[in-house]
Amino acid sequence: MVRKVIEIKNLIHRYNSSQDETVIEALKGVDLHVAKGEFLAVIGHNGSGKSTLAKHLNALLLPHEGSVTINGLDTRKKENTWAIRQQVGMVFQNPDNQLVAATVEEDTAFGPENLGVEPVEIRRLVDDSLERVGLSSFHKRAPHLLSGGQKQRVAIAGIIAMRPNVLVLDEPTAMLDPTGRKEVMATVSALNKEEGLTVVHITHFMEEAVFADRVLVMSEGLVAMEGTPREIFSRVEEIKKLRLDVPQIAELNGCLRKEGLLLPSGILTLEEMVVALCQ
Ligand code: ADP
Ligand code: MG
Repeated sequence: MVRKVIEIKNLIHRYNSSQDETVIEALKGVDLHVAKGEFLAVIGHNGSGKSTLAKHLNALLLPHEGSVTINGLDTRKKENTWAIRQQVGMVFQNPDNQLVAATVEEDTAFGPENLGVEPVEIRRLVDDSLERVGLSSFHKRAPHLLSGGQKQRVAIAGIIAMRPNVLVLDEPTAMLDPTGRKEVMATVSALNKEEGLTVVHITHFMEEAVFADRVLVMSEGLVAMEGTPREIFSRVEEIKKLRLDVPQIAELNGCLRKEGLLLPSGILTLEEMVVALCQ
């Protein structure tokens, strides 16, 4: 049986509006299972509940109804909070809000230091984590002088230095240029493929969801669609109804098929399109 790292059952979350008495139901009954080692992409228009869902994964928010279980630990139980936060590392949108120290290596050491890890072991964890994000030679550099993509990789190094099982990234590339986005995606992808880290990647770049094993589409606080990238992005009309785009190549494929070209559905990358057209 595949081990479930994340199990969410009928999750409901409400916010009280600060202006008036109204209650916003941000999550209206979400069910989600994520297997160990899986790469899940979460997409959905603004306000669909993605960040709220992310914050439930490490007990930053607690369910109003339903449950969230991380490796068998129920987030509603206070005694589990510490263990859950150690197991689920979070990376957010703005790299500048996540970097605290004067050098890259001090920043990376911050997490394990707080966990009370021995200095010798911290050294090893920092070196190993910086290597895994491809920043070994940057260890003495000042984080604020790095590019956006490098800053996010330092943030990721700081998280993986705490040895989590799950990496949750909430639009980590939203503030980056195309080069930075590619760097971060390559890093996250390698951590998933080579280290078996379970990844939940929230993004509004459809091209990034193509990397995932499975895509979850959120809409109005509910899971609207779920499937492999190929399944999801061949449903062009439904995706558009949910105010989302499909990757450019999938869009082109949709147009060509409509015009009567005999192309297979589910083409997602330029390489696949070239092969299909040549046939
Ligand atoms: P997304 O990340 O998909 O943009 P969010 O989870 O941030 O969506 O928000 C879902 C809904 O909850 C939105 O309607 C948003 O306005 C509302 N919301 C989010 N955070 C708060 C908050 N702290 N207080 C009140 N409403 C909130
Ligand atoms: Mg958000």
